[in-house]
Amino acid sequence: MAITDKTRKILWAKSGGRCAMCQHALVLAPTDSDDESVVGEECHIVSGAAGGPRFDPNFPKDDVDSFGNLLLLCRIHHKQVDDQTVAFTASILRDIKVKHEVWVHETLENKPREAPKVAPVKRTRFKSEIPAQLPMVTSGKALLDLALGCFGQYPYFGDDLTDEEMDLVGGFIEAVQDWGDVLDGSEVVEIMRAGKAIDAMIVDLAEHGFLVFAAVERQRLEGGVGPSQMICLLHLSVARGSDRSVVVKEDGNEMNRG
Ligand SMILES: [Zn+2]
Ligand SMILES: [Zn+2]
Repeated sequence: MAITDKTRKILWAKSGGRCAMCQHALVLAPTDSDDESVVGEECHIVSGAAGGPRFDPNFPKDDVDSFGNLLLLCRIHHKQVDDQTVAFTASILRDIKVKHEVWVHETLENKPREAPKVAPVKRTRFKSEIPAQLPMVTSGKALLDLALGCFGQYPYFGDDLTDEEMDLVGGFIEAVQDWGDVLDGSEVVEIMRAGKAIDAMIVDLAEHGFLVFAAVERQRLEGGVGPSQMICLLHLSVARGSDRSVVVKEDGNEMNRG
């Protein structure tokens, strides 16, 4: 008799592909030039051969190659248990087998998979930090001073813009956002250059009748992987010269003072 393929598959599956004694994986990863290496061996708890390890003439011959009489081991532990049969009796090996198979089962099937504990990200706003009104900004430098290091922005713009105005206003808001992201920590010279470019855009907006207003609101950011921290958000409004005083409501939406 020999071990059937079915029995072999059951043994490897129930053992989790690991040695019952050291729990080492029995299929080693392939290298660039070699396939996987199988270092596991199917050990008989009671040998079927007279004089073999733990041979017992009373053990039913039909059971020798059965799943219950087989133990999955690495090469080292297979050699050890077959050399040291006084210490590794059949009953001790059965105990090792059952404990290992229970360990595999509990490890893989019973334990719910725990997601890494990451607290949900939460932003807290403070009433005192919400700007009641956005001061007018007339230079690129002043705007960059506010925008650099900001975590994000609350953009405000009218809903009555023509296509051309939308390109102008939208392009400006996006540019400030991009510069705020890119320039943080940059060389002074680059920041000055960006300030000049924003100057030119503010002049262009003014020629089309738009003014720029901005202020920073500090919020607390909690959760995620890091410690909680204060972050800045930029309120940035591009409004027609006629409605200059932009008032920010607590939900971050713009409200024009009538
Ligand atoms: Zn082992
Ligand atoms: Zn063996």
